[in-house]
Amino acid sequence: MLNRTEKNEEMNLPPRLRRELKTIQAMVEIYCRRHHPGRPWTLCQECDELLEYARKRLGLCPFQAMKPTCGKCPIHCYKKNMQARIREIMRFSGPKMIWHHPVMALWHLIDGMKKTPMRPVPRRPNNESTE
Ligand SMILES: [Zn+2]
Repeated sequence: MLNRTEKNEEMNLPPRLRRELKTIQAMVEIYCRRHHPGRPWTLCQECDELLEYARKRLGLCPFQAMKPTCGKCPIHCYKKNMQARIREIMRFSGPKMIWHHPVMALWHLIDGMKKTPMRPVPRRPNNESTE
């Protein structure tokens, strides 16, 4: 197991995002273990890159502690190819999370039920909803 949680930059993330990152990490690991096996298995370079990218995106997320789960986020901040990769991983690992990491899966569900905050960037003036 990689000791990613020890990394300094994670300590700067609010708990909500740290949880999100852990969930992403768990999903990437489930996926990689299955699709990119090695002996002994460690996260392959490709998946490691993706995880590093996810970490950076979370650090830059304008919602921070208010962040909705990525599936519900109004901002799709990933680059096209990274988004395709993470989507594939989530499609594969998402349903398995409840078995591998039930507590994390539950948290993700709870986080997913929270109301999505408004986009933290100026909205177009002719938009009819004005919350
Ligand atoms: Zn991999």
